[in-house]
Amino acid sequence: MVVVLSGNFRGQGPAKIVSIDRDSKRAVVEGINTALKHVKRGHPKSPQGGRVTIPVAIDVTNLALHCSSCNRGVRVKTQVIDGAKRRVCGKCKKSL
Ligand SMILES: [Zn+2]
Repeated sequence: MVVVLSGNFRGQGPAKIVSIDRDSKRAVVEGINTALKHVKRGHPKSPQGGRVTIPVAIDVTNLALHCSSCNRGVRVKTQVIDGAKRRVCGKCKKSL
């Protein structure tokens, strides 16, 4: 789960990441950064034509991981737990 730090959707979340592109550092987040696309008749999502809501990828630098115990977006640190590297909340050290 992530929260949005900037842009039109600032302050929204926690929301689920749908997909992520590591090369371009952009991610599609559920319900965040949507656009209306006008489509012609016969489109699978809108047979009679009209406007369809489509997801648009958002830059990952505008996102922060959501910590369920702090209830906010937090910075992530790494910690070695039982020999394995784990992501932990930078504030409360909860494993994310
Ligand atoms: Zn936390």
